[in-house]
Amino acid sequence: MEMETTSQFKALDERYVMPAFSRDMAIVKGEGSIVWDAEGKQYIDCVAGIAVCSTGHCHPAVVKAICDQAHQLIHCSNLYYVPHQGDLAKKLVEITGLHKAFFSNSGAEATDGALKLARVRTGRKKFVAFTHGFHGRTVGSLAVTHKPAIREPFEPLGMVKTFVEYGDLDALKKVVDNDTAGVIFEPIQGEAGVIIPPDSFIKGIREICDDTGALMIADEVQTGMGRTGTWLAMQHTKVMPDIVTLAKGIASGFPMGALVAREDLEFKKSEHGSTFAGGPLACAAALATIGVIEKILPDVARKGERFGRGLAALNPRVRGLMIGMTIGDKCLDVQKKCASQGVLVNCAADGNLRLVPPLVITEAEIDYVVGVINGALG
Ligand SMILES: *Cc1c(COP(=O)(O)O)cnc(C)c1O
Repeated sequence: MEMETTSQFKALDERYVMPAFSRDMAIVKGEGSIVWDAEGKQYIDCVAGIAVCSTGHCHPAVVKAICDQAHQLIHCSNLYYVPHQGDLAKKLVEITGLHKAFFSNSGAEATDGALKLARVRTGRKKFVAFTHGFHGRTVGSLAVTHKPAIREPFEPLGMVKTFVEYGDLDALKKVVDNDTAGVIFEPIQGEAGVIIPPDSFIKGIREICDDTGALMIADEVQTGMGRTGTWLAMQHTKVMPDIVTLAKGIASGFPMGALVAREDLEFKKSEHGSTFAGGPLACAAALATIGVIEKILPDVARKGERFGRGLAALNPRVRGLMIGMTIGDKCLDVQKKCASQGVLVNCAADGNLRLVPPLVITEAEIDYVVGVINGALG
């Protein structure tokens, strides 16, 4: 097969794909923390599909699990028991400390599921979410996503919700009442640029939910699955939410999401469903992913600290391998300079540089990345 060049990708994209994304690179191959573009240039990937390729690109255990399952059964429907689904649900229950799981195909769908579960089990309609929070772009999840530029053109979205300043417990207390179905929040805000709140904020949300009967919904789509050095970012705070959503890093890039909820919070017959969700390939990929993460999880905090020391001049916000730095207007310029030096980084909101590399990144790779970023800013 003849390889496409970047300009060939670009020509087809411009002619046939709706221009919702801004992009100028074509990535055609990956291995570990390294990716190659269409011209064969090599990069250390600190974007990792936006915190998705947790085990690195094409980890052999994940590739094998997908291929083995593909030879057996690619799809069968949730009308039947699905290979690997029960094993995966058991794993998710064990690593979250919650009770039962429900699968989805994406983070946004996991949010939608969590909102539906909260509504149907509490019988309440209202939600509270936070400024700069991101929970997805479906009609349901977008309703609780704050960013006015991406949400407001689509209002009215069918969800009664209020936004409260992230970190402001007094404001939260004022709006959560006995009609509130749930409070949805990211334990660390990802799209906002890696914003780490004090533990007291998370504990305060728990107390307000306990006082009112609102459900505490932790969106761990980005922070979960070992990203911050523990299976859940919530585990740094010792606070147990009522519902956790997962996606990005769960299956190393195979599309999958899940929500896991405490006892007494489950969908009953016909209350929710999905054709593809929790399919055999996705579950096989997720189980293999978890097997790999189990082995490397103890190293994640140390790797994050190595980034933190190397980038100390930039005052990085570091929790495991979720790292943010406020760079300002130069952010896109820095992103470009890093790419030219063989390092992929990503500008999240408000001039915040975000690093979410594969959890398998090596110390030598970290040192190279740190040098390139410091150089790009120097
Ligand atoms: C990415 C993200 C989502 C949405 O996930 P998709 O798979 O893109 O639908 C939801 N919540 C958080 C915190 C995210 O980072």
